[in-house]
Amino acid sequence: MSAEPPSDPVKQPSRTSRLYGCLYGGAVGDALGAPVEFMSLAEIRARFGPSGLTEYVEQPPAFTDDTQMTLWTAEGVLRAHNRWLERGIVSVSAVVANAYQRWYYTQTHDGFDLAASPSDSSDLSGWLIREPGIYGRRSPGSSCLKALGQGSPVTDSRGCGGVMRIAPLAVASVGEPFQLACDVAAITHGHPSGYLSAGALALILARLMDEGSLDAGIDDALLALQGASGGEEVISAIKRARELASKADASAEAVEILGRGWVAEEALAISLFCALCATREEGPECFRQGVVLAANHGGDSDSTAAITGTLLGTYLGMEAIPGELIFPVQGRELIERICEDLIRHFIAPPPAPKCPVWWGPMTSYPPPHDLDRYPGI
Ligand SMILES: [Mg+2]
Repeated sequence: MSAEPPSDPVKQPSRTSRLYGCLYGGAVGDALGAPVEFMSLAEIRARFGPSGLTEYVEQPPAFTDDTQMTLWTAEGVLRAHNRWLERGIVSVSAVVANAYQRWYYTQTHDGFDLAASPSDSSDLSGWLIREPGIYGRRSPGSSCLKALGQGSPVTDSRGCGGVMRIAPLAVASVGEPFQLACDVAAITHGHPSGYLSAGALALILARLMDEGSLDAGIDDALLALQGASGGEEVISAIKRARELASKADASAEAVEILGRGWVAEEALAISLFCALCATREEGPECFRQGVVLAANHGGDSDSTAAITGTLLGTYLGMEAIPGELIFPVQGRELIERICEDLIRHFIAPPPAPKCPVWWGPMTSYPPPHDLDRYPGI
């Protein structure tokens, strides 16, 4: 029997479809894995049977801090773009750091109330902070709370809170994704494995947006990591994942060989393993198989399923995500609006030209049209 791939040309998803797939894929995985985040594999199987968790158990299924922070990353990127359009100069990571302060506000307040917090130092402009659906503590990471509560990147954390939120940097074509994602993750996670894992994921996602394969993206990420100081742990985690995917069954036991995903390089490795296993044979169930595999282990199930969903959604496009996984997700309208705005800014129109410095010459663009929703601060 031939191992050759089918010769028929496969229709590639559009960039728009990949962007939707990236954000929705992450939210779906996050909502699926959230109920079992703190359960062991034995507990998951005792409750849900030998196949583990295979569908939503919360009604409605709700995403957690992973997707909340991803939406805030997108909000920051859109503001940074407007700042660039307005002033011709911007530090993307500084603007995204301000967006994370707004996320912190949503974790320490029940809702938007300027009168109740006159001394709050967060900038509370824009639309997202006014949305009731963006509030609520869904097991937020302690490193993010600590660093943002103190207002400075003081933690030496290698937790997965830096890597699980960076997808918008890769799908929005904002400059050089590896370094930018490292800078943004380092706002809260100062350990090299914490931020370099984010750089690696962003580079892989950027390659997938450009119709690259998972393997080609991983090759590029390994190359970038080899040139970075302190990248050894992330390199070895990625290599372990790739090797395991080439020989092991797609099982929870195999996933747990790679760790539990609480730290960044393990979360990345588990997610790459699950995405590689799911795409060995691409079929209609590919996306679901990947996120289910990523949710069923005794670790950070929502983050690994979210990252896996992000990878598979970007690679396969929005059409590969089953409608019954998308439609019930609580807060779906927020994801939809963010996707629409990212597409309007970065995909069509106007197209984002390739340029070594952020978004290219200002004169290429019309003036910002949504400064009220995304002030450039
Ligand atoms: Mg979470």
